[in-house]
Amino acid sequence: MKKTFEKLKVLQEILLKEFGVEAELEEIPRELNELKRRFAKAERSISEMETARKDNDKKLKELEKEKGELLRGKEKYEGQIALIKTQREYEAITSEIAQIDEKLGIIDEGELGAVQEIEKVDKEIDEKKQLYEDLKKDIAEKEKEVKQLSSKKQKELDKHLKEKDKTSSGLDEEIMYKFEKIVKKKDGVGIVSIRNGVCMGCNMLLPPQFVNDVRREESIIFCPNCSRILYYHDLDTAAEEVVL
Ligand SMILES: [Zn+2]
Repeated sequence: MKKTFEKLKVLQEILLKEFGVEAELEEIPRELNELKRRFAKAERSISEMETARKDNDKKLKELEKEKGELLRGKEKYEGQIALIKTQREYEAITSEIAQIDEKLGIIDEGELGAVQEIEKVDKEIDEKKQLYEDLKKDIAEKEKEVKQLSSKKQKELDKHLKEKDKTSSGLDEEIMYKFEKIVKKKDGVGIVSIRNGVCMGCNMLLPPQFVNDVRREESIIFCPNCSRILYYHDLDTAAEEVVL
């Protein structure tokens, strides 16, 4: 049983390395994913802005068409002025022309607004396209970097896994499975000693009969409170006892 405990301690060190590399592997693509997210966002913005650009183009064309119609109407009225005979007719036509001028003024304002909007959107599209290209380049570089680093870390992980297989040979599979889970969950400590009847993992005082069972070393026993594997004999304590 002492051999098993020693094995578990060695295994614990290997597991810690394994988990560490696994965490690193998970972390590696994080920046890349963030770049991809920004890239997708830039792509969406460009598409939205291009739609806004088209809407403004359409608006501008409609205003131009309307303006053309109004100008033709105005020309017609102006042509009639020469033929006017009465003051009343004159007033009626000049009033029509004044109304058209008013509408033309509104259209001019609308056109100016649309043109300014187009200029603004075009500038924004240019900026976003630059960002889009920059991100595309960054992503390509990052992808290469991630691939290299991942393969390096994967090799490291494979090395730890092999070492784990070698060390755990002969250990009960279920114990192994439980032990791995405890090491992962309990801050890297899956096997602890009992000292003065207390679990050194969680400081719980254990019943004397339970402590005796652990001491007998007939089977692997887990702490009822923190689930860590318990052992009674501790080389460190033994050394301390000698000193005392
Ligand atoms: Zn405990």
